[in-house]
Amino acid sequence: MSKNKEQDELLKWLDEEDPFGLNEEMEFIIFKCIDCGKEDEVPDYVVEEFHFDLEEDEEVEVVCPFCNGTMRQARKDPSE
Ligand SMILES: [Zn+2]
Repeated sequence: MSKNKEQDELLKWLDEEDPFGLNEEMEFIIFKCIDCGKEDEVPDYVVEEFHFDLEEDEEVEVVCPFCNGTMRQARKDPSE
């Protein structure tokens, strides 16, 4: 019966840790293309991954899916 117990623990772990984040609502960050002006939503965990390669004061840039230009995070508050 030890097999079943292992499986139970695995299921329990999957349930508690939610390792794939399936039960969490994804947060999206709006990016705006500085070349064509279109906007795209990028999941925030992707943006955080980009941040690992950057200096603290550098902005995350992604490739625009519409024109292959540069997209930067759109500012919610333009005065910021
Ligand atoms: Zn673009």
